[in-house]
Amino acid sequence: MTSKVHDCIKDGWFYEVSDEHFPGQALALRVEEVLHHSKSEFQDILVFRSTNHGVVLVLDGIIQCSERDEFAYQEMIAHIPLYCHKNPKKVLVIGGGDGGVVREVVKHEGVESVTMVEIDKTVIELAEKYLPGMSSAMNHPKLTLKLCDGFKFLKDASQLEENEKFDVIITDSSDPDGPAEAFFQTEYFQLLQDALKPDGIVIAQTSENVWLDINYLKNLSQTAKSVFRNARICYTTVPTYTSGQLGLIVCCNSPETDLTIPQREPTKEELENLKYYNNQIHTASFVLPNWADNLING
Ligand code: SAM
Repeated sequence: MTSKVHDCIKDGWFYEVSDEHFPGQALALRVEEVLHHSKSEFQDILVFRSTNHGVVLVLDGIIQCSERDEFAYQEMIAHIPLYCHKNPKKVLVIGGGDGGVVREVVKHEGVESVTMVEIDKTVIELAEKYLPGMSSAMNHPKLTLKLCDGFKFLKDASQLEENEKFDVIITDSSDPDGPAEAFFQTEYFQLLQDALKPDGIVIAQTSENVWLDINYLKNLSQTAKSVFRNARICYTTVPTYTSGQLGLIVCCNSPETDLTIPQREPTKEELENLKYYNNQIHTASFVLPNWADNLING
């Protein structure tokens, strides 16, 4: 089903509203043109051209990315775990249908293979059509694409031999209200651990930030710590996410590993291809304001 109207668009503005997650607050972008609206098997998908933020992808009423600031999210969620690892070779991306994370992962010469598991092929097709700058690496020779549920994929992956496990796993999912619900629960963190090499690193978007629902972040951090001996919240700034920032959670098995310290420095050539990430911002992204740090990290 395709239509040109959407419940979230009124008087030429798109409104991201959630009485449950951010009551009394909304994020609005002015719409120049609706490019696509449909309901796939899994979610409501809207793509529109905004007047000032380029093309915007929206799933179930929540902004996933805008062309203007997407790099702030893609670079941080990809490069924090990749630079935390001394020599990442095998990378798994769960979700990520817009292609932005894969675009960042293949910037690392040492990465030998990337597996991406996306549930909704419509998102991939729409990104290829309307967000070519994000999906530019979707034909990369190192990429293997699996079209299935990431949770189910990980359940099967728990049977992997040690040498088939992953060095880095990135959960680039949508928020917990739709098909990504299972990614925010203890069993998922257990599955991540099972699919990870002993010295591997995982990262996931938390769908929250300290301003929206800090208790959710605290609970997610405790959920992660019930499985991984080391779990830390960091964040990136993204103007087109409500409240302008998004929390990320990074985990590994060794309590001695300091996740705030990158293990490698981007080469001069790599740095030229990075608009947001550098080693300093990596470390700084783990520094939380006092009240947030006290609540989340005790
Ligand atoms: N940057 C985004 C954000 O945090 O708002 C995430 C972007 S990416 C488009 C999210 C992707 O996760 C979507 O393409 C969605 O289809 C996918 N996804 C949701 N649930 C999934 C599942 N169970 N298995 C695999 N992919 C899933």
